[in-house]
Amino acid sequence: MKIRDVKTTLLSLPLKDPIADSTHTLKTIDWILVDVCGEGGLVGGSHMLTFDYGRELLRGIVDYELKDVVVGMDATLISSVWQACWNRVEYIGQAGVAAWGIGAIDIALWDLLGKSLNCPVFRLLGAHREQVPIYGSGGWLTYSMDQLLAEVTSYVHQGFTAVKMKVGSRETQYDVDRVRAVREAIGPKIQLMVDANQAWTPGQAIEFSRKVRDCEIFWLEEPIQKDDHGGYRALATAMDIPVAAGEREYSLEAFRDLLAQRALPIVQPDVLRLGGISRCLKLAHLAETFNARVASHFYKEIDIHWMATVNNGLFLEYFPWLDPLLVHPMEVKNGMARVPDRPGLGIELKPEAVQEFRVP
Ligand SMILES: [Mg+2]
Repeated sequence: MKIRDVKTTLLSLPLKDPIADSTHTLKTIDWILVDVCGEGGLVGGSHMLTFDYGRELLRGIVDYELKDVVVGMDATLISSVWQACWNRVEYIGQAGVAAWGIGAIDIALWDLLGKSLNCPVFRLLGAHREQVPIYGSGGWLTYSMDQLLAEVTSYVHQGFTAVKMKVGSRETQYDVDRVRAVREAIGPKIQLMVDANQAWTPGQAIEFSRKVRDCEIFWLEEPIQKDDHGGYRALATAMDIPVAAGEREYSLEAFRDLLAQRALPIVQPDVLRLGGISRCLKLAHLAETFNARVASHFYKEIDIHWMATVNNGLFLEYFPWLDPLLVHPMEVKNGMARVPDRPGLGIELKPEAVQEFRVP
């Protein structure tokens, strides 16, 4: 099956109020849909979450650079298409915007292959399970205490058994008070993760970890700058709380170095930044050789397929932001999400919603 065309669509969904973590303030939820068109009307799709950052650049890497590479290639030779894209962007750099584009095409090709064979992607990949643990994410720093507690308790009422909240504000004590209040609100049985979005120094992270020792934190995410590998190594020995990181990494080599130093017990790839489903599988297998576990970042509808395939997968991350566009929003029961048994990725968009939120 030849690739006939590649198309992108920009969608913008308003947020009622801006939300913020320790590094970004988010005003809109914007998506770029990337469709790879095969033969006989078959289309494989993927999506990038851009907020309002670099939308035209991310679209442009697909429209103006990678489309020319892939049109005419055999859509079923996914690894070969991946390599051709990788080679093409060597001159401008294989990280950053280019990696997003390669990832989007890789994901769309897996969807296309699944649709062409009438098979869900997780079964094509060699399924390990049909349900994946999932946690409710959010807990923004901009939330008042009431909003924060309302969100985490609402997740618990919806059937989640794990939740995540933001930390990394200027005052460690502010974070400690909020973590303590959340732990009290959700009770001892719900797992609680916290995410600092690279805000701290290693010393601040250690101070925080000591102050919340009695709060049973399941993981501390991105406590420090992502490239401070020595810092991550130091935290791994100095703290009781396991560290998770990796959503901003573009290379397997960075993960390999962290894993080899025993600096990261939980790797957290972003399926777009790492270069697609194909590369997340490689990372999960690499992590397995170091007895490390993998938790995916954000793209639950895509990630559920490769996370259902690997045997060291820990958690999917849940945000409801794609739901207004979906015919079948993901359902969570007893902390688990069921992998859709529809062809491809099983992501069906509502045409009227795409039309409503489309940016001309
Ligand atoms: Mg994070």
